[in-house]
Amino acid sequence: MTNHSRRNFLKGAATATALSALPLTAKATTGLNGKNVIVIGGGFAGATAAKYIRHWSDANVTLIEPNVEYNSCILSGLVVTGERTLDQISFDYNTLQSKYGVNVIADTVNSIDSGNQTVTRSGSATPLPYDKLVLAPGIEFIDPGLTGGAGQFSNFEVLQNECPHAWKAGAQTTELKNQVDALQQAGSGTLVIRVPKKPFRCPPGPYERACTIADYLGPNFDVKIVDPDDSLNTIGVLTNVFAGLFGSGNLYPNIEHIAGEDVTNITSGKVVTVSNYGDIAAQVVNFIPDQRAPAIVRDTVGGTWGAVDPVSYESTTTANIHIIGDSQATSQPKAGHIANSEAKVCADAIVRSLMPAPMLPYAYPMTNSACFTPINSNEAAWISAVYKYDGSAIVTEKVGNSPTYNEENHEVMFDWANNLFSDTFG
Ligand SMILES: Cc1cc2nc3c(=O)[nH]c(=O)nc-3n(C[C@H](O)[C@H](O)[C@H](O)COP(=O)(O)OP(=O)(O)OC[C@H]3O[C@@H](n4cnc5c(N)ncnc54)[C@H](O)[C@@H]3O)c2cc1C
Repeated sequence: MTNHSRRNFLKGAATATALSALPLTAKATTGLNGKNVIVIGGGFAGATAAKYIRHWSDANVTLIEPNVEYNSCILSGLVVTGERTLDQISFDYNTLQSKYGVNVIADTVNSIDSGNQTVTRSGSATPLPYDKLVLAPGIEFIDPGLTGGAGQFSNFEVLQNECPHAWKAGAQTTELKNQVDALQQAGSGTLVIRVPKKPFRCPPGPYERACTIADYLGPNFDVKIVDPDDSLNTIGVLTNVFAGLFGSGNLYPNIEHIAGEDVTNITSGKVVTVSNYGDIAAQVVNFIPDQRAPAIVRDTVGGTWGAVDPVSYESTTTANIHIIGDSQATSQPKAGHIANSEAKVCADAIVRSLMPAPMLPYAYPMTNSACFTPINSNEAAWISAVYKYDGSAIVTEKVGNSPTYNEENHEVMFDWANNLFSDTFG
């Protein structure tokens, strides 16, 4: 990317973010301080919503999140390859508290009484009342029900420990890194990545991971991607970028993409059985399970993902509950950048509705997303998209992409991520 196009990219991203935000005024709206907003989950969606509701109003905002530090999935692939540490992509909630006045409670919400508008958390028997509730708990993994050759991987917890998904950043990321490092020490071997069925968090993520791990391990190692829904073919322009990298004659001849097949069995010795393909003797298995909204969402509003009205992200089944980020059911990708963008649309709608003279949400909100995907330790590609609700559906207003992967994209990737981190947690 030239300096000119780099400036244009960042300018475009900033404009799209501003459009999606739609703040009522530059100053906080007053008269809401008797209103209670509770946000469940302090990831890209929840932390942004909590911050911006306080930024734009004087409502009482309580963020409930069990972890005192949030480990970002974004850039966590670089932890696996040793280019970043987890500490470098971890964020606390101190600024949300000190600068924006968000009341942060380190706890887990166990139940929601949508009739009485209260939530109960594990650390206290006293229900907390809300006028508006924002659900942003991310994703839950679905037990694949593997039989397991020696019975071992039929237990979902054991499967996740032994074949780490690293699809929620933290201990899982460290475990995958340790296993990849041990494989590298062995000098040769095979790593299997199982792609979840759609929809799943970060659609280009498994292919990006295959590239960065193959780059890290080098040519003596095989990486096999088992992709039951052939999701590689549904990631827009990145489909061709990755397809041009895998297999004989390409940058990664040692990456094999196995489309339309799924893992049916993994023995304790990590022999992976793939339907209609056969057995793969692997040393490391990165099994990324299928996903759905966490039980706290499904039990409260129904569905596999939380259905929402795109103008406000309010649940279509349950009044005064809004669902944002990976848990919600719109057609937008499940990604951190767009979770931040959805959160601002939601925050704006909540502030409008709680004002002494309530206002309707903005009718045609826009959201945007950019995704940088490292191809190796110093080159990356990117795609971006702007979405608009046109009154009946969310449509793609604009898409952009890097013509190729290169070093400058890799540098811009860190600017982009730092902007997003600071807009969410700073
Ligand atoms: C390897 C990888 C790379 C990625 N790269 C990118 C990228 O480059 N760009 C991009 O845009 N996206 C990327 N993503 C996707 C992105 O990380 C997710 O889409 C994003 O984290 C979703 O944000 P969220 O706030 O909805 O959920 P989360 O980030 O999962 O946050 C949910 C929070 O809710 C909390 N929580 C859950 N249940 C409860 C409860 N009952 N009570 C209280 N709190 C609760 C959790 O502790 C968690 O902190 C990547 C994902 C992965 C796995």
